[in-house]
This record gives sequence, structure tokens and C-alpha cells, in this order.
Amino acid sequence: MIQAAKSKSTKQISEYFGKNVFGPKAMAQYVSKEAIKAVNESRNTGQPMDMKMANQIAEGMKNWAIEKGATHYTHWFQPLRGSTAEKHDSFFEPTGIDTGVELFSGKALVQQEPDASSFPNGGIRNTFEARGYSAWDPSSPAFIMEKASGKTLCIPTVFVAYTGEALDYKAPLIKSTNFLTKAASDVCQYFDPNVKTTKVSLGIEQEYFLIDEELYHKRPDLVFAGRTLVGNMPAKGQQLEDHYFGSIPERIYNYMTDFEKESFKLGIPLKTRHNEVAPGQYECAPMFEEADIAIDHNSLLMDVMQSVASKHKLKVLWHEKPFKGVNGSGKHNNWSLITDTGVNLLSPGHSPQENLQFLTFFINTIKAVHDHADLLRASIATAGNDHRLGANEAPPAIMSVFIGSTLSDVLNRFENAKTDAKPGRVSEKTISVYRIPEILLDNTDRNRTSPFAFTGNKFEFRAVGSSDHCANAIIVLNTIVGEQMKKFKYEVDALIKKKVSKQVAIEKTLIGYIKASKKIIFEGNGYGEEWVKEAAKRGLSNIKTTPYALDAYNKKESQAIFVDNKIYTKKELEARTEIKFEDYVLKIQIEGRILGELAKNYVIPSAVEYQKKLVDSIEGLLRIGHTKAECKAMLDLTKEISKNINAIWSNNAKMTEERRKANLIDHADKKAKAYCDKVKPYFDTIRESADKLEELIGNDVWKLPKYRDLLFLK
Ligand code: ADP
Ligand code: MG
Repeated sequence: MIQAAKSKSTKQISEYFGKNVFGPKAMAQYVSKEAIKAVNESRNTGQPMDMKMANQIAEGMKNWAIEKGATHYTHWFQPLRGSTAEKHDSFFEPTGIDTGVELFSGKALVQQEPDASSFPNGGIRNTFEARGYSAWDPSSPAFIMEKASGKTLCIPTVFVAYTGEALDYKAPLIKSTNFLTKAASDVCQYFDPNVKTTKVSLGIEQEYFLIDEELYHKRPDLVFAGRTLVGNMPAKGQQLEDHYFGSIPERIYNYMTDFEKESFKLGIPLKTRHNEVAPGQYECAPMFEEADIAIDHNSLLMDVMQSVASKHKLKVLWHEKPFKGVNGSGKHNNWSLITDTGVNLLSPGHSPQENLQFLTFFINTIKAVHDHADLLRASIATAGNDHRLGANEAPPAIMSVFIGSTLSDVLNRFENAKTDAKPGRVSEKTISVYRIPEILLDNTDRNRTSPFAFTGNKFEFRAVGSSDHCANAIIVLNTIVGEQMKKFKYEVDALIKKKVSKQVAIEKTLIGYIKASKKIIFEGNGYGEEWVKEAAKRGLSNIKTTPYALDAYNKKESQAIFVDNKIYTKKELEARTEIKFEDYVLKIQIEGRILGELAKNYVIPSAVEYQKKLVDSIEGLLRIGHTKAECKAMLDLTKEISKNINAIWSNNAKMTEERRKANLIDHADKKAKAYCDKVKPYFDTIRESADKLEELIGNDVWKLPKYRDLLFLK
């Protein structure tokens, strides 16, 4: 009855949420209990499943997918360059000239061999040598991707070289999560022996720009570099900030509801949508989930958003800084740890005892960020994010932690409280420190200028770039905090062995950490010049560009924590770092080439065309008796145009020469540094002249859509 009363057009999300996911509900219907048990076991232990069970699951998965209209399947994985990859096979197999069946075996579910030679591997896998294969990751559910032309069953996988090294984000991400959750669970034993496991929770806010698809295709810089390499701020930019939280334009609203619907079907729990600060900029955020799933979902969401956009004749720009002089985009990673008993370890509790547990995880995270700030900086380093970090509207390149005034006060009192070293005795004074106001969650100050901010019951890593794969940041965050938890346990246990009471041992250790990592805490304006000076005084790094930030991955200490904790082998880490340097070089190289082309094929021709109009006009005026003085403005204008054309021409030649020299360098890191220091500076000088020309030249001859066309969608 209730069903019948519902109107078709207002379907509730709960009616179709997860409809295209082979989750517990679908599995219960299509797979035996025994096989489900096997999947769960494999998920929990990480051990491969026996082939008989795998066959059963494959059969169930196939039947489910075919009933939903899927004709093909693919192993879905996340190679080392930010997007996702697939190679589709059909279920269909011919049995005769005009007969056939749909088949899908356990073997096809468990393993596939994509033609992987073109995926980046940092020298691990020579094309002539070993191949790569993808292996089913049962921790993430299979799903059906619907496109206008058909439906495909997608099986989340890890991507591995035959020699065993991981070639994707997923495998090390899972390792880092397992490492951290184990270390955190061990520490939880001090407080609650009932805790068996913990989970990393992650909620990823995604910022993006939307522009008209047709205009997008008229801008080679957007098409090939993802950002505008030339272009002037319109007279009305974001100064008025009237876009933020304003009403969403209808065309955008239709797009949002459409991609949200597709995301819900895939089980992506989107929660919020709104305009962002800049014109044409928006944000969406899901409910938090387990980190591995949240990251899969973010990659999937980006795919869905882009593919739905083309239905609406829109294009999503993921770049961190698509427009000069306009706010850039980030991807805020809200991160916490939650026990299997349901306690958020970064949420202050009700009792002093609970709060000692909270403070343990809170302070250890701060200590980890303090000790490994450079590694954290490296984790978010990309050519695109360099435009954002340290620019005047995004978290700076200086890593610091914001905790708000209430918790600053708590830490101060804690640090100065006297712990009683006598076994079993704790001073009242110390205990009072743990009385943290319960209203903290609503009460935490918001500091939008901090790269790493505590926001009531989680840390928000705000410096991650909008286009980046979140695994980059989360692998590092998980690893450094896991390492820190391990150290903490070691130190506390050592004190306990010396007959110090558990509580005092914990307190003593934490107080030591507060003292040691205080300098990373910063509560002021992260955008200000004063912070740059203050941070330098405190000895904090301020690494502004990617090739220098990436060096942190090559440091001995960093290698040790990844290798010792089995997140990466030495070879894997080196390969990944190499890929990152190469990626930087490629990006800057492409930008340099596109900028040269834009200059020669668009900007200069427009300028010459306009100049010719001026010259014709001046000649005409002189002919009918005007004096040169009377033509002064136009004459000056032609000179100004020539000056800028010449500047573009000669700077482009110099830039090309620097590229040529940089290309001769063998080592990826040195090459990246040459691109950064020698090539990239010309982007600004060339752009300056090009943008000047845009300002001077008539609209009718300017060959590129301008910011005002791109940014103010109709
Ligand atoms: P903000 O604090 O940025 O104003 P919200 O409080 O709504 O916004 O949270 C933003 C994101 O943080 C959402 O994706 C949300 O699911 C996520 N989040 C909330 N609590 C947690 C948690 N305990 N662990 C991880 N992420 C969380
Ligand atoms: Mg936020």
C-alpha cells in the first residue's frame, strides 16, 4: 500500500541506494552462505580464497550482473596516475557458428592480465620482461557501471607485477590501513581490552569547477593541461563572494542530482552539495566510510561525475588551479580511527578515563605530523597542487596542525601538570586536565587556513589537491601515525616494566610528546606573511615546489618507516618516487608546449589581426588628412602590441631552449628540478605578455574564450 502511494518521480534514495553494487544484500540472494563466509574470511585475513568458492561467487556475481543487463566484465584498478583503468571482456562465449553462452569463471574473477605495458611502473617492469596482473580485492564490492551504450560488471582489484611489486594505489593503501589499525588496536588495550580491531574512517570533500563543454574544447590549455595557461581575471571575479552558498543555478542543479543518483546506485553515500567560493566552483561530500572504500568511492565518484557531465554538455575541471586569480580546488580528507566497540578515538569522551584515551590518539597524531611533516608534504606534492599550496587562498606548503583554543588550553594544562611517578597514584591535578567540555564538537574553532586541522572528532587534511588520488596522502598519514603508535606502545611498556603505573606511564610519555612536537601547532592565520617568518623561526619546512618536496620520499628515515613496516619494499618506494618525478616533468613539459602553441597559434595571430585593423585604420585616417598626432592612441597601441608579441616570441624561444636542455638530463629528480627552476618561470613571463594582449585586443578577433565566458555558466 505504502509502495503504491509513492509517486514515481519522487523516488527516495533508500529505494535505489546500492542497487548496482554486489554487496551483502545481493550476495545473500545469489551466493551460498558457505561462499559468503569464504569471502568474509578472505576479506578479514587477506588470504586468497579457494577456487571452488571463487567459482561459486563468480557464478552468482555473473547471474546478478546479467539480470541487471551487464554484458561485459572488467577488473577495475587504480594505476599510478590518478585515474582508474579497465579492460573489458564479454561474458559471451560462442559454442558454435550461431550459438553461445554467457560464462564467468572463478579464475576470471580472481585474476586478469591487462595489457599493462603502458601503465607507469617506475622501472619495475620492463615491457619485454615481466607482465602485470590484476587480482580481485574482496574488501571492496563489485559494481555495475552503467553507460548509455551498455553495462559492465566492474571488479575492484589490486594491480601487481609478476615479480610481486604493487603497481597501483590499492595494495599499499590496504597495507597501511592494516598497519595503523593493528598499532592502534594494540594501544587501545591500555584502555579497553574488549577492543579487537579498529578502522580508519575517511570522509572526502571534493571541490571542482564546472564549465561549458563547448567552450572547454575551444581552449587547448584546458583540454591538454587541465588549466588555463593564459587568461585574464574578469572585472567581476569572486570579490563579491556572492556565489558561495548562494542558490545553485538550475543547469548545475540538474547535473548534480543526476550524478548523485548514479553515485547512490553505486553505493557512494553522498551527503552534501553546495557552491564554493569561486564562480563556477562547487563541492560535494559523502558520509565517511572505511578509508579503503572511501578512496575507491572517491575515484569512482570522479569517473561518474565526469561521465554524467557530458550528458549535460558540461565539463568538470579537477585541476587544483584552473584559473589564475580565482580560488583553487582541494580535496579535504577527514580522517579518524574508530574501534569495533564503536568508539571514535578522536572524539573526546565523557569521563576523564575516556579522555586520556582520546588525548593519546590526538597527541600521537600531532607527534606523527611533527616528526614526518616533510613526508606529509611530499604526499600531496603534484604540479597542480603547487599552484594552490602557499598561494593566498589555500593551506600553505608549511605543514602545521590547528587544534583550536579549547584543546590548546588542555594541552597546556596537561603539559604543566605533575605526574606522580609512584606506582598506582595519579594526582588530582592531572585528572582535571582530562575534563574536556563535551560541547567541543560544535565548539571547535574553524580555521580554513590550516593544512591539517582538528575539527571536533577527526583531523581534516585540507592540503590534498582536488585532482589527486587520496591514497597518496592517506598511505603516508596511516603509516606515520601507525609508526608513532608503535613507538608510543614501546615507550609506555618500557616504563610499565620499570614499575611505573600504566596511567602515569601514558601521561609521562604524552607530556614528553607535547613538549617535543609543540612547534607544529599553529593557531593563527596560515595565509599570512608573518606565519612564513614565524615558521622559519620555529625551524619548520616550507617546501614550495613538488620536485623538492618529493625528496622526502628518498630520505633514509622515510624509506625505513615504509620498508620496516612493510608498506612498500625499497624497490616499490623508489619506483613510485621516480614515477612522481616523471609525472611532474611530463606535466610541466606538456604545459610548456601547449603554452608555446597557444602563443603562436592563437595569441599572436589575434594580436596581428587586430594590429592590422589598427594599421588599416591609421592609414585611412592619414589619407583623409588626420595628423599623426591625432592617430597617437592607435599608433601607441600598435607599438604596445608589437612589444608584447616580441616578448612572447623571445621568451618562448628561451623556454624551448631550457626544455631542450632539461630533456638531456638523465635522472628524473634532477630533470624535474630543472623543469621547475628553469622552464616553469617562463610560464609567468609569457603569460604576462599574453594577458596584456588579451586586455588590449578587440573581443571580435580574440581567438580564445575568455574567463568571463568560462566562469559564468548560463
Ligand atoms: P566540516 O567539518 O568540514 O564543516 P562535516 O562535519 O559535515 O563538515 O564533515 C565533513 C566530512 O567529514 C564528511 O565527509 C563527514 O562524513 C566526515 N566525517 C565526519 N565524521 C568523521 C569521522 N569520525 N571520521 C572521518 N570522517 C568524518
Ligand atoms: Mg571541511
